[in-house]
Amino acid sequence: MNNVAPKHPTLLVRNPRTGARDYEMRVHDAAEVSATAARVLAGQTAWADAGVTHRCAVLAAFHDALSARRPELVAALEADTGRRWASHMEVDTALSNIARCSGYAAGIFAERPPVATADPGVRFMTDLEPYRLVGCIGPWNFPLQLSLIDAVPALLAGSSVVVKPSEMTPRFVPVLRSILEKVGALDQVLAIVEGDAATGASLVAVVDAICFTGSTATGRKVAQNAAERLIPAFLELGGKDPAIVLQSADLDAASSAILWGSTINSGHSCMSIERVYVDERILEPVVERLVRKANAVRLAYPGVGDGEIGPIITEQQIAVIEAQLRDAMTRGARIRTGGEIELLGGGTYLRPTILTDVDHSMRIMQEETFGPIIPVMPFATEAQAVSLANDGHYGLSAAVFAATVDEALGVAHHLEAGGVSVNDVCLTGLVPEAEKNSFKLSGLGGSRMGPSSVRRFLRQRAIICRDRAGTRPWYYDAAGA
Ligand code: NAD
Repeated sequence: MNNVAPKHPTLLVRNPRTGARDYEMRVHDAAEVSATAARVLAGQTAWADAGVTHRCAVLAAFHDALSARRPELVAALEADTGRRWASHMEVDTALSNIARCSGYAAGIFAERPPVATADPGVRFMTDLEPYRLVGCIGPWNFPLQLSLIDAVPALLAGSSVVVKPSEMTPRFVPVLRSILEKVGALDQVLAIVEGDAATGASLVAVVDAICFTGSTATGRKVAQNAAERLIPAFLELGGKDPAIVLQSADLDAASSAILWGSTINSGHSCMSIERVYVDERILEPVVERLVRKANAVRLAYPGVGDGEIGPIITEQQIAVIEAQLRDAMTRGARIRTGGEIELLGGGTYLRPTILTDVDHSMRIMQEETFGPIIPVMPFATEAQAVSLANDGHYGLSAAVFAATVDEALGVAHHLEAGGVSVNDVCLTGLVPEAEKNSFKLSGLGGSRMGPSSVRRFLRQRAIICRDRAGTRPWYYDAAGA
């Protein structure tokens, strides 16, 4: 157990592989959040004034420092999440995010000449003014990646940032904090506070803009508190992503992609495929392939590197998955493979689970599951497939499989989702260059992908100048008054 000064409130954190509460996390209260915010806010003006080239250089030093500490970061993330591949992937993604967003920032701040207007005596220029203090609140499913995904572009825009990671997966925080301390210039404008809902709420109360990644239920509370203060809230929330398989699709490729997209990270991805609609003429061949491939996927047990499917990370999610499975079975769903929660070495696992005979009266077809479960339902026409896919509260992303991109586009253009992968899954998360918005209850605010990831932290100040000889400012006589 790590050492924490006893006078501060702490939380005991569960290890997803052993079930032991073996990590003690310090909880920051409202006063500490305020003091931290004030500290990094004090560095903001100099940070913004130093210019984008300086900020890119400091972020490049951060990139190198992160890269140099990869083994420690991966070890901490592995302990937090019980998975290996994704822990490496998180570090890779954090590094590439820095490089890509630095390019966007350099382009956005490039010199922009004054612009002429319809009035020959008037031209204007636009200042880009960052929100001074941005808060970033993260979930537990990708602790490092989702702590930095908005923080990095906000810093490049010239903001100071306070990050509050999830209290479920905080073991990476001391490593990240010590990396930050090594990059002096960054330490003055980026800080991490730790804690649960109360700490998150305290952060919303002191920032100029809030980025929140988490559940729709919490997102609503964050949005309400942000609305009370009239600050922007960029919300990245839950999903219930559908995949549609048209008759012409390559069934081997589609079934592999769907199995991977549903079960990778134990289904703990916002963009997991959570429901599958298959042309009724190919239903059984698709189900047969899914079952055969699901049976070949191994649990990452007893060693973290022994297989593909890690433990279900939180006790809350175990309860959600069990309740949804129970509800589906009660309403007539059939388990084709998997479906049994397994307790192994103190961790809780679920093998890839294929369900058929499902319908939209079941919670498993309507509510976010966040587990490795694939409910499969037939459709008769493309119109019905679209209507089923759109029948839900969420609109994060979706996938369509067909023989040709053109055929898939006939469906993709009608889906109520902010991103659609064609003949693959999860591209909306894996291709960060593509700007997109979350539809319906999956989120709010400008895209965190593409150049908008930086631009959304910049307010525009138009400076409009009358500067040509011979033209006069507005007065009553201009309108003949
Ligand atoms: P959660 O909503 O329970 O918690 C998220 C964060 O909010 C945590 O850090 C928590 O401490 C904090 N929090 C809780 N109450 C708060 C309050 N009142 N004010 C401020 N902060 C508060 O979510 P979770 O269970 O950690 O994450 C899983 C959810 O995140 C899933 O719904 C998943 O779909 C979603 N998610 C979305 C995306 C996306 O990009 N759309 C990405 C990853 C995860």
